[in-house]
Amino acid sequence: MCDSDKLDSAFLAYGASKANNFLDADVLILNTCSVRMQSEQKAFSYLGRMEEFKQQNPDVKIIVMGCMTERLGNDIKKRFKSIDLVVGTKDIDNSISKIIDLCCFRNSFKKINSNIQFRSKVISYITIMKGCNNYCSYCIVPFVRGIEKSFDYNTIINKCSSAVKNGVREVILLGQNVNSYKYKNVDFTSLLKSIASIKNLERIRFLTNHPKDLSDDLINVITTNRKMCSHIHLPMQSASNKILRLMNRKYTYEYYLDLIEKLRLAIPDITITTDIIVGFPGENDRDFEDTLNAIKTIKFGGLYVFKYSPRPNTMAFEMSDDVSIIEKKKRHAIILEESNKISAEIALKMIGTRHQVLVEKVKDGFMEAKTKSGRKVFLKIDKKHYGKIVNIIIKEAKINSLFGDVID
Ligand code: SAH
Ligand code: SF4
Repeated sequence: MCDSDKLDSAFLAYGASKANNFLDADVLILNTCSVRMQSEQKAFSYLGRMEEFKQQNPDVKIIVMGCMTERLGNDIKKRFKSIDLVVGTKDIDNSISKIIDLCCFRNSFKKINSNIQFRSKVISYITIMKGCNNYCSYCIVPFVRGIEKSFDYNTIINKCSSAVKNGVREVILLGQNVNSYKYKNVDFTSLLKSIASIKNLERIRFLTNHPKDLSDDLINVITTNRKMCSHIHLPMQSASNKILRLMNRKYTYEYYLDLIEKLRLAIPDITITTDIIVGFPGENDRDFEDTLNAIKTIKFGGLYVFKYSPRPNTMAFEMSDDVSIIEKKKRHAIILEESNKISAEIALKMIGTRHQVLVEKVKDGFMEAKTKSGRKVFLKIDKKHYGKIVNIIIKEAKINSLFGDVID
């Protein structure tokens, strides 16, 4: 998401704009993901379509970026001969300049102003670290994104400040495990405090947190700093201690539940969202029931559920993938149904409540805004509210969308 965003900004600065479909495009860029096998298969199918398109339109450039290039770089090039450039993820800024160089040469884009990076955007994603050292047994990230590295503190502050100068009101800090950010003597909470002192910045969000690293210090900063949003994405993965151990997650379900209680006590309006994997090797009916019951107990504000997919090099790749695909699909559907039910209940309870929302963008005939706790609210279009924080009342609720009126 963030790499695409960066590339977007870079292209905008060169006067290029997004095409709506292949036919309108001079350059086709595929940003790939390796986390699950399904994402890789999707990428291959896109590449097939791109290659066919290029046969009829030989001037079009095809560029592939993202995790998959780290894992399969040469193989992708061999299989799809018409790819013009494959760039890695480890040094994304360098990769983006390679892409821009190639496109400038071909299409004679002229650089307009490299500082227009955040033009008219209200929200900006800023990566503060890359890689991961946690080696959860199912996860390919440490192998394709490398070991954890925190980025230079001053560079991050400068990026946030320049985004704010260009109209951004909310920054979303990104990393696989942001809570373990450490650059020289600056840790994550000190970084948050410095960013919060940037004038005209209204809101700060961050993702993702590993439960084992979520500190009291962080909870304290969220409680005491008005710019910190009350939303935490805290992947649980499973509620069976046997499965958590096999996943190498380094916490128990009881520890996770205590953490949720602590967060809710300290930050009453907090939204907690999570990731769940179903069908991990050895997950039997009882393990699955544990996870389902935990979801009913905790009532997450939202969740992503994934069917386990074996990834090369990971520890779990050596385990027997013993839950059938039919069973994985069944468990996936049960979790999704329960989660939708809970989301609908939460949304219904919100009707009539008042919130301050940041108006982020115009989409599908509405203005899209977000509450501090991360709930999306759609409002009637009124350009004067764009990029502003406004008071609203919730009028109508659907599972994932709330509709509100401004009440200034
Ligand atoms: N660093 C983040 C997660 C990054 S991957 C974190 O630890 O929270 C995003 C999600 O994809 C994970 O939380 C997990 O739920 C899911 N995932 C990762 N590898 C997977 C695999 N091999 N099969 C299925 N889901 C997987
Ligand atoms: Fe993958 Fe675990 Fe690292 Fe998240 S914390 S990126 S799931 S290894």
